[in-house]
Amino acid sequence: MNQNIRVRFAPSPTGPLHIGGMRTALFNYLFAKKHGGTFVLRIEDTDQTRFVPGAEAYILESLEWCGLKPDEGPQQGGGFGPYRQSERRAQYHQYALQLLDSGFAYYAFDTPEELENLRKEYESRGDTFVYDARVRASLHNSLTMDKQAVEELITAGTPYVIRFKFESGKEIVMQDLVRGEVVVNSSTLDDKILFKSDGMPTYHLANVVDDNLMAISHVIRGEEWLPSLPLHVSLYRAFGWEHLMPGFAHLPLILKPTGKGKLSKRDGEKGGFPVFPLEWQDPVSGEVSPGYREEGYLPEACVNMLALLGWNPGTEQELFSLDELIRQFQLEKVGKSGSRFDPEKAKWFNHQHIQHIDNKALIKPFRSVLELKGVTIGDAKLSILIPVIKPRISFLHEIWEQSWFFFVAPDSYDPAVVKKRWKEGTPEMMDTLALALEQCESFTAASLEAMIKGVIEENGWGMGAVMNAWRLLLVGEAKGPGLFDLAAFLGKNEVIDRMKRGMAQLGR
Ligand code: GLU
Repeated sequence: MNQNIRVRFAPSPTGPLHIGGMRTALFNYLFAKKHGGTFVLRIEDTDQTRFVPGAEAYILESLEWCGLKPDEGPQQGGGFGPYRQSERRAQYHQYALQLLDSGFAYYAFDTPEELENLRKEYESRGDTFVYDARVRASLHNSLTMDKQAVEELITAGTPYVIRFKFESGKEIVMQDLVRGEVVVNSSTLDDKILFKSDGMPTYHLANVVDDNLMAISHVIRGEEWLPSLPLHVSLYRAFGWEHLMPGFAHLPLILKPTGKGKLSKRDGEKGGFPVFPLEWQDPVSGEVSPGYREEGYLPEACVNMLALLGWNPGTEQELFSLDELIRQFQLEKVGKSGSRFDPEKAKWFNHQHIQHIDNKALIKPFRSVLELKGVTIGDAKLSILIPVIKPRISFLHEIWEQSWFFFVAPDSYDPAVVKKRWKEGTPEMMDTLALALEQCESFTAASLEAMIKGVIEENGWGMGAVMNAWRLLLVGEAKGPGLFDLAAFLGKNEVIDRMKRGMAQLGR
């Protein structure tokens, strides 16, 4: 493939990045890295009315958290900067002028009130007003005035916009790397505004001009931009840049857990799962939306989950590191149809990625959770605890809930478990067990297991009856890891102590 692969992630800082946006960033990153190309971050902030303070910093932090480091961008700089469109604003006007000169664009002086009236008039007839080839000849624009009148209006400072002039009745043929050939008739398109009365370009003009100036080879973005493709392709042609036109790939939508419709912020609120990579506080309303990071997801798990929303490796493999994704990613394996978001699967990915963390690397997070609970613990004990608890957690914040009984004796006993497990004859079994434990010299998991199994066999008891009752005394409920591991960790005195306390409470 072409060596000069350059892709860009081009978010608008209008709020927090949705996970769909993160997926777009990820696919761009994977494609760039796979082909030894360049991953560019460009901030598209030309729409001043939608600017949200903090949103750009949020985007940068989200990319960093997921390990998607741009090669060029507002922070890194690069040979094609600046990377914020607001800092490039001076250059866009000349491109709009170029299109005016070549007849691909025109000035429109229609005031917002005039357009609003037209909209209402059409609406009252059950029709929709569209500024297009059918109506432009009857409107207030440079196509319907002589040159001098236009110049006078402009010199007088009359507000204007510059619109793209679509020829009517033309088939626009486009190639999409995900969808193949896409054909749209230009009669269905409106004459989109390229340059606004506030002196700023619209998204369309700035986006195409910058993709060209930044030598972007592939535009990989969400499906919601597919309707803009005919305009963008037409702009490339109008500028005479068709031979430089990037490849386009429109990624499928991420769907609600029900599979019906696009995943929204509300779905997250209803289903109790985040739709943003990081927590976000709305600067105006103060409303806080949860983030994957704050909910305890590992960035590796998030990246893995996002990669499989729309991309299919073509094998059964589901677990990928970022490096493996780079190796295996192919744009050709991105599907056309929307991918359903499954919050349970997200948890599964986190569980799996936690299992892949080296036990040594877990010492620090375990210790910090335990210290918060006032437990100080040496490395030796931690190295026993970690392999026992790790398989039982999907999040690091579950460490305490899955391990408190290693450090604290139960002060109550789950009534449902008591009812089921504390039967006639149980206290006598526990007496015998306690006695055997007291006499036991080697308190390791293996020797405890051998000894206790022997006692059970000698007495002809049921293994389940003994172990479940013993667990109730040591933990207070029916949960927890293997009891021999737990008992070995607690040591003889604590085990006997818990048994005595439990028996005293539960009675005979
Ligand atoms: N600024 C657009 C957005 O916010 C970029 C779309 C594109 O990638 O062309 O998504």
